[in-house]
Amino acid sequence: MSINRDTFDECMVPSYAPADFIPLEGKAAKLWDQNGKDYIDFGAGIAVNALGHSHPDLVETLNDQGKRLWHLSNMYTNEPALRLAQQLCSATFAEKVFFTNSGAEANEAALKLARKYASQQADDKHEIIAFNNAFHGRTLFTVTAGGQRKYTAGFEPLPTGFHHVPFNDIAAFEQVISNKTCAVILEPVQGEGGIRPATPEFLQALRSACDKYNALLIFDEVQTGNGRTGELYAYMHYGIEPDILTTAKALGCGFPIGAMLTTTEKAQSLSIGTHGTTCGGNPLACAVASKAFELISHPDLLIGIEVRRQWFIEALQELDARHDFIQEIRGLGLLIGVELKQSASAQKLLRAAQVSGLLLLTSGSDIIRLAPPLNINQAEIKEGFKRFDKALSSL
Ligand SMILES: *Cc1c(COP(=O)(O)O)cnc(C)c1O
Repeated sequence: MSINRDTFDECMVPSYAPADFIPLEGKAAKLWDQNGKDYIDFGAGIAVNALGHSHPDLVETLNDQGKRLWHLSNMYTNEPALRLAQQLCSATFAEKVFFTNSGAEANEAALKLARKYASQQADDKHEIIAFNNAFHGRTLFTVTAGGQRKYTAGFEPLPTGFHHVPFNDIAAFEQVISNKTCAVILEPVQGEGGIRPATPEFLQALRSACDKYNALLIFDEVQTGNGRTGELYAYMHYGIEPDILTTAKALGCGFPIGAMLTTTEKAQSLSIGTHGTTCGGNPLACAVASKAFELISHPDLLIGIEVRRQWFIEALQELDARHDFIQEIRGLGLLIGVELKQSASAQKLLRAAQVSGLLLLTSGSDIIRLAPPLNINQAEIKEGFKRFDKALSSL
């Protein structure tokens, strides 16, 4: 029986609308589909394949661990999980780690920890402040934190106790925080919400207010973490530490894994039996993530991200000189938002690029998002922009 794009419509829940080709193989920043056509990948599986496709060291680690031990359950601990937890703690503010299988689950754990921690202080301390255009995942709790109507409609009743205020608006935030607030959750750079970095003043104001009202500050670094912005985690650009940090996407560079990082004092609230997940922290996922973390933490790789950002910005400016299509370029490191002049044209451009052999992402209807592998080379970038040019010409 042949497998093709029609098979998707026959057998899969229609919650996704995948491209009309099926990728078969990948190497570094390139993919090949069923027909042998190749694509330059400027999307990296939505900021997941941070070391490109089939990185030889990750393949080797996967094979080694695959022969040794895949899964145990949390009735036992395992060496790869402990190694990865040590790496995360020594590289960040964190002292304790909880492993999950996805970003949404890492945020679910973060919000549950915040509620639990606050419940030990006061009965009515349960409110969570989040921001407009946020994205925190698709579980009912995290999709409510995201607060976007298009993702919650029809799923009511939703968890209660949320406030949403405009991003980077200190005055609006200060109006809703109170002794009832248990947590403030935000992305240091809004990913799905238009590639908007928080201002340093905004993060400073959140930190101060959280200290004053004894609320936990949660940085959702599911997309911005693991080198994406040029620092290991985006909070390091700002010098402002959260109480809880969540990471996933590029943590496993394609192997599903997430983590919630926190301090020893906060972690005590998740005492034995209060939270868990069967596959979270399994040896196979943690072995791959540990190797990926080692490679991404390397100073040469992190320094190279700013260099690559400059190549991308210059190439975008050259394209704009020819096609006059860019309103603004935003973002940090290799999380780049290109706001288009023509409204609602991002999907059309993404499709045209696919035809030309280039994979892009969008972030809202007007913004092209670029999140290439962090180790993409100059030849791959050059070839990608040749195809970008072709796509723009075809419109
Ligand atoms: C992708 C993403 C999530 C959700 O992660 P999943 O692994 O899809 O559950 C949460 N927060 C942010 C900022 C993300 O970009």
